[in-house]
Amino acid sequence: MVIYLDHAATTPMRAQAREAWLAASELVGNPSSVHGAGQQARRMLEDARERLAAVLGAEPIEVIFTSGGTESINTALRGLWLARKPGQSVVVLPDGEHHATMETVAALGREGATIAPVSVDASGRILVDDFAAAVSPAEVGLATAMIANNEVGTLNDSAALSSIAAEHQVPLHLDAVAAFGHVPVSFAELRGAAPSGVGLVALSVSGHKIGAGVGTGALVVARSAALKPLLHGGAAQREIRAGTQDVAGAVAFAVAAELARDEQTAEGVRLQSLGSRLASGIRSAVPSAELMGDPDLRLPGNVHMLFPGAVGESMLFVLDAAGIAVSTGAACQAGVAEASHVVMAMGRSERDARSVLRFSLGRDSTESDVDAVIAVIADAFARSTAS
Ligand code: PLP
Repeated sequence: MVIYLDHAATTPMRAQAREAWLAASELVGNPSSVHGAGQQARRMLEDARERLAAVLGAEPIEVIFTSGGTESINTALRGLWLARKPGQSVVVLPDGEHHATMETVAALGREGATIAPVSVDASGRILVDDFAAAVSPAEVGLATAMIANNEVGTLNDSAALSSIAAEHQVPLHLDAVAAFGHVPVSFAELRGAAPSGVGLVALSVSGHKIGAGVGTGALVVARSAALKPLLHGGAAQREIRAGTQDVAGAVAFAVAAELARDEQTAEGVRLQSLGSRLASGIRSAVPSAELMGDPDLRLPGNVHMLFPGAVGESMLFVLDAAGIAVSTGAACQAGVAEASHVVMAMGRSERDARSVLRFSLGRDSTESDVDAVIAVIADAFARSTAS
């Protein structure tokens, strides 16, 4: 059996979410239809929206269902860009964001946006003072940031970023895809008392990262946000996201979100302790190995290690052959892992950025999984550095 330690890439669907999906999928009816079957589908959909909204600390009307994190991020960033005020063509983009964000902003750059970068520190945390300086010019139209870094696991000071954006009257999008389900995320709390249409106005989450189905996600959009749609074709979901809504997917997402919330504290403690066991076991086996990211303020299941002199991808293949699935954390181009842009943003060399592995633990991870990694890691390291 494969030891799966890549839960940050995608995590198995929860049994209860699958059962809820199956039950909902047996119903026929488009939630936009006026007949009884349609209205029954509508009730299920709106019930799921209310439940997910409650977990997200949002109002049901603020929850827009999407096909996942990438779509949510594109909808938020491009939507805010299209609705920007004249003369506000600067987009604030911290280093080390997910490719969905980086590439959406790069596309806006080709369409006339000026990109204002913000540095991260050696742990991968967005520098709050740099963020404040970047959002302060009057030409800034929007800003984005992630709550937790999906590669190195570092948590940002999202509350500070949100209040800075509010203070400077800038609409802010937060990518909560890696954080949601693992650490508390409340849209209302993060938005605080921001004035209408500015500060935190949009927040992205994804179903398959928390045990719902692939292809489900949501974008929380504040009632006051000015945001133009990407998809045209109907009045559903405040005209922000047209298209027939996926009732079963939404129901499964709500179930998974509630379970993740209910288990969050206990599971966080368990994963943190498993993660410490893994990190210290790896360091005993490979003394030069280094835990990347913030040692404390990090996602509980994330163990991101630098193996100096090794090629992370070669180690990944050795571990894979031993039945252990991990990731380099970085994106792939034609099946070859890129050097991690996150690790380079943290001030490391390109060489180091190719020498990392991300172990992401999840609900089914056990001590014996961790011990299996520790047993083979020195060999994987030696084989990678020799090649
Ligand atoms: N943002 C972050 C931080 C992520 O980790 C991911 C997925 O890895 C995404 C966005 C994209 O989400 P999805 O896979 O649902 O499109």
